[in-house]
Amino acid sequence: MDLSHILNHLGEDREAHRGAVSPPIYQSSIFAFSSVAAFRAGFRDELRSTVYSRGNNPTVEVLRKKVAALEGAEDCLMFSSGAGAIAAAVIASVAAGDHVVCVARPYSWTRALLRDLLGHFGVATSFVDGTDVANFASAITPQTRLIVLESPNSMTYEQQDLAAVAKLAKAHGVRTLCDNSYATPLNQSPLTLGIDMVAHSATKYLNGHSDVVAGALCASEALIREVFKKAYMVCGAVMSPHDAWLMIRGLRTLAVRMERIARTTHEVLTFLQAHAKVEKVHYPHDAANPQFALTAAQMRGASGLLTVVLRAADVAGVERFCNALQRFLMTVSWGGYESLQFPVCAVYPAGAPLMPPGGGAGLNCVRLSVGLEEPEVLIADLSQALDAV
Ligand SMILES: *Cc1c(COP(=O)(O)O)cnc(C)c1O
Repeated sequence: MDLSHILNHLGEDREAHRGAVSPPIYQSSIFAFSSVAAFRAGFRDELRSTVYSRGNNPTVEVLRKKVAALEGAEDCLMFSSGAGAIAAAVIASVAAGDHVVCVARPYSWTRALLRDLLGHFGVATSFVDGTDVANFASAITPQTRLIVLESPNSMTYEQQDLAAVAKLAKAHGVRTLCDNSYATPLNQSPLTLGIDMVAHSATKYLNGHSDVVAGALCASEALIREVFKKAYMVCGAVMSPHDAWLMIRGLRTLAVRMERIARTTHEVLTFLQAHAKVEKVHYPHDAANPQFALTAAQMRGASGLLTVVLRAADVAGVERFCNALQRFLMTVSWGGYESLQFPVCAVYPAGAPLMPPGGGAGLNCVRLSVGLEEPEVLIADLSQALDAV
């Protein structure tokens, strides 16, 4: 992959724009034609021509080319959110009476899409432990049309063997979708492992600056055309030209951001693991992770999202740690330039027990997104906060 060419030049066609080094923002909803013949030709292929910005827009198209190239895909659609990208890919792939197999504990709104929304429309979903490919094999029925993967997921980072699941799916004529937000296209290439469609919450690392909510879907041209016709134009979760421009700008630094974040995260991990108040750390690139061999086999590099499990006597101790952190903003999302914390206990009512009775991540889990700060600054902050547990 000629990474610097993709990030700095691909799709920008500067000669058509008087040499502008930063691409223009085509802030136009519609594009006019000089003849009926030209208008007719525009309608023939709204994925590539410019007729109406719900279909295609020149600024968004620059970004589509870059993200497709990063994923090694023939084409890409950009969305106004990652949830929009995942919903369009799924809706275009199933009909009433069909069955979906999804990895257990996907992103919460992916679960809501499959279990609740599509459940109301006659699409059934089985959620399976994706750490063993045999679980997918036993969940597939004659009605199964789609397998939805998220590897790693974004709280405890379980992975699926993407090549093995892709092979199984192909043998059954089942389509596959993988959410690749955690790894980014730099660190994992599901399409080259045989997966059919790759989705991203571009809100996270791809944009990287906590100023745009965006999504991407990458696949073969045939699949992208199918999604375009069946769901993209219908549901209309499209990206604005201005957001596309911001994301083109955010992408310029993707490689340097990821490199710096991976290095800092390794230092943060080493510090946390040696600390008496830390029970364990969930992180796919930790040699002690039970799936570390799979990490090494299918991922090229590391990200900055990890979950620390505190050795706390009660939720109050966890809250003292979170409230004491100064350099990790307390909020949702992840993947920006700034470090963040997400305390699991914040989604439970006050007074809930440390271990949720229904299973899942304990209330002693705090997810950290490591940003671009100096590692020693983050470690000093974590150190003083751990004293408060
Ligand atoms: C955030 C997220 C999404 C949803 O993306 P939005 O841009 O917030 O709509 C999907 N998958 C994963 C893994 C995420 O973290």
